[in-house]
Amino acid sequence: MKKIVCIGGGPAGLYFSILSKRARPDVDVVVIERGAPRQTIGWGLILSEGLLDRLVRQDRASGEAIRRQMLPWTGISIELPGRSIRSRGHSFLSLSRVGLISVLQERAEELGVELVYDHAFDAEREPLPEADLVVVSEGSRSKVRDARAADFGVTAEERPNKYIWLGVAKSMGDQFRFIFEETPGGYIWAHCYQFEDGYSTFVVECAETVWRALGFDRGGLEESVEACRRIFSRQLEGAKILAGDGRRNTSSWTNFKKIDCARWSAGNMVLLGNAAHSAHYSIGSGTRLALDDAAELSRALTLDTLPVPEALAAYEANRKAAAAHLHDAANRSMRWFETLPTELIARGPDRFAYGLLTRSGRIGAAELRRLDPEWFAEFEGGVETQLIAREMEPAPGRTRAISGEVEI
Ligand SMILES: Cc1cc2nc3c(=O)[nH]c(=O)nc-3n(C[C@H](O)[C@H](O)[C@H](O)COP(=O)(O)OP(=O)(O)OC[C@H]3O[C@@H](n4cnc5c(N)ncnc54)[C@H](O)[C@@H]3O)c2cc1C
Repeated sequence: MKKIVCIGGGPAGLYFSILSKRARPDVDVVVIERGAPRQTIGWGLILSEGLLDRLVRQDRASGEAIRRQMLPWTGISIELPGRSIRSRGHSFLSLSRVGLISVLQERAEELGVELVYDHAFDAEREPLPEADLVVVSEGSRSKVRDARAADFGVTAEERPNKYIWLGVAKSMGDQFRFIFEETPGGYIWAHCYQFEDGYSTFVVECAETVWRALGFDRGGLEESVEACRRIFSRQLEGAKILAGDGRRNTSSWTNFKKIDCARWSAGNMVLLGNAAHSAHYSIGSGTRLALDDAAELSRALTLDTLPVPEALAAYEANRKAAAAHLHDAANRSMRWFETLPTELIARGPDRFAYGLLTRSGRIGAAELRRLDPEWFAEFEGGVETQLIAREMEPAPGRTRAISGEVEI
């Protein structure tokens, strides 16, 4: 192996380039990125403690630099019109996406990776880069992958809900906040948490019917921001909504694109991160999957003595097996938000909150009771809810590990 080219310099492509260059300084590693240095799409990210430990083990310099940026906080708050419910005992770590990308870019440069910025690789017009291995790390809307869709066995689905990834120039408290507002068009909600002092991520989501009823299909970004500011004015308390700098980090309404690929490699091309498989953002685990993919691919290629095709097959098999439980949780969570059980709000906000907290199937009554006995005792007040709680225990083996690998 003499040369590796990664198309796409997000978390997956950058981290793979770092680990590969570290392990094989003799190999030329190039990352082609359409954006400029230290710019990216999106605001904050949640990462798990377990992932951070792995990052430090795999490359201490970048792992420690990422850890230094992480902001810890606890609790999940479910805010409904007229009532807020807080479940304590959870623990999260967040940081800015641009902070993560900047650390990875700096470390890659330091190790001698060639970073080519402002180059949007054109899969239709440009020949594939000449390299022993082309890593396709363009994200879920990868065009290089789609040009070879049959080879990779791509299943791509635009999911029905609309979302926009905004930021807010304000610390929105020390908890993950799910904020639901009822509008004349129906329910709209925000997934919100602070990722650095004075800044929070603010992902607004709703059903497409609500999105149209609220006129989001007709106005531009400014109108959308203004409408979100009005809808969530109680929580924002006048804080500025951030929708990008107008160049690379421009927020826009979109649909989550669910990607599954039957095969992750074809010839000398291999899919990495979101280009290979995407997990719904509502459990906050896509970056973790991307970074773990990168580590596994690098390990398979550089530490094992397998020929490249076998190494790629081992990478795919290991990552598909390791990621299956997260995809299961992400799919359940995605569908819960797509079929938002608003009837539960009328039957008691606690039931709705319980449904939200247990939606991914990885956390159940026993764990919620352990995390926050006070709230759980209140919730469990009625006989009927006790039955619900028992019925909704996750299946054995599906419970998430409380410390280390936390999802929302
Ligand atoms: C609203 C939202 C919230 C999220 N929150 C979390 C969270 O809290 N925690 C978490 O773990 N994950 C979260 N995720 C998921 C996470 O952002 C992705 O899973 C992760 O970024 C995947 O990394 P990637 O490198 O595979 O792809 P991407 O991050 O999409 O990176 C792809 C890169 O390729 C570049 N590129 C694309 N096409 C080309 C081209 N033709 N030429 C050159 N460059 C190209 C892009 O500019 C980009 O830099 C969230 C996602 C969303 C949408």
